[in-house]
Amino acid sequence: MASKEELNPFKIAQKQLDKAAEIMKLDPGIHAVLREPMRELHVSIPVKMDDGTVKVFKGFRVQYNDARGPCKGGIRFHPEETIDTVRALAAWMTWKTAVVNIPLGGGKGGVVCNPKEMSAGELERLSRGYIDQVGRILGPEKDIPAPDVYTNPQIMAWMADEFAKLKGYYVPGVITGKPVEIGGSEGRGDATARGAYYTIREAAKKLNLDLKNATFAVQGFGNAGQFIAKILGEAGAKLIAVSDSKGGVINRDGLDPERLIDYKLKNGTVVDFPGTSAITNKELLELDVDILCPSALENQLTKENAPHVKAKIIAELANGPTTPEADEIFFERGIFVIPDFLCNAGGVTVSYFEVVQNIYNFYWDLPTVHEMLDKKMTKAFWDVDKAAEEYKVDPRTAAYIVAVNRVAEAIRLRGIA
Ligand code: GLU
Repeated sequence: MASKEELNPFKIAQKQLDKAAEIMKLDPGIHAVLREPMRELHVSIPVKMDDGTVKVFKGFRVQYNDARGPCKGGIRFHPEETIDTVRALAAWMTWKTAVVNIPLGGGKGGVVCNPKEMSAGELERLSRGYIDQVGRILGPEKDIPAPDVYTNPQIMAWMADEFAKLKGYYVPGVITGKPVEIGGSEGRGDATARGAYYTIREAAKKLNLDLKNATFAVQGFGNAGQFIAKILGEAGAKLIAVSDSKGGVINRDGLDPERLIDYKLKNGTVVDFPGTSAITNKELLELDVDILCPSALENQLTKENAPHVKAKIIAELANGPTTPEADEIFFERGIFVIPDFLCNAGGVTVSYFEVVQNIYNFYWDLPTVHEMLDKKMTKAFWDVDKAAEEYKVDPRTAAYIVAVNRVAEAIRLRGIA
């Protein structure tokens, strides 16, 4: 078994950076800057619960790097959130905005809580409380949060409203992933999955894989997982298996993504979806499918299961699903990994479009958003592919080389001290 230290996401993020830094011969001073977060805020958020008691929740906001623009990244509500997870996710946001070349830095927020056990009222008070504590370091020109694991457009709306109260006027560009009615962008809802689809389409071209005859499995059935099931299904690929935190289902003849999404929304899980057999999360990762879409949490693909993975393409819609040891095994075995901060950059890319529209106060239609997203993702995919060929490295290290080069150049131009 991998040790706790080996699975610490921030240690993993630093290890990935170190590997790329060595290959690209990164300036040691800039490397040192990029190994640590620029700034972090730890807060305690008191919330009056429905039963009248007061509970104090721990929250974080990490601003990892702003060399290329304001920090950007989601807020997670998760019972197992830790500062090191948030640090890692903030680092990955820095590489994510750089790899798709949007003028933003990287940040991330987290609150240790279990939203599944909280009422809507409690969640609203927690969301507002988070902004009361963290709002002082946020703003369209400073740091712009967004949704992530267990947060959604409604939560973004409450947060935007609380920020308006602090400011005295509504500032839509302070947060993205808002409902369209209050300044959200068309196409933000499925942007992470749609962006991932564009990278899968390009990877399939590279590998001569016909998506129409391809099979795929999805681990995690939240925002990213549901939409990738639907979008890859629309592209003609066959969905074989899906899992969520409660378990999984499989049908070799194919699952209907739309019906499965309806079922999940009604029942809170995919478990017992009619016409399927049960499958564990572990079994799902080792299925004989063309494309595997980890769309849940970190550290799912490890040195233990990597030798048994049979997919040709691993499309990382989740952040950090693969450990460095598993990465090496996949590279040796010729399994093509589309690394997280490239594969799932569609969300932040449309978030960037959202901020641009907020500042312009002029809104685009859906085809415009899709076209611009496609351009950004396709260009990023081939930029990374070019670096992989040039340096003869795996796609993740190549993505680091592209992203770190851009951030390093910004630091160099602005000057370190
Ligand atoms: N939470 C998403 C991510 O990890 C989106 C971030 C954003 O839109 O700022 O990329």
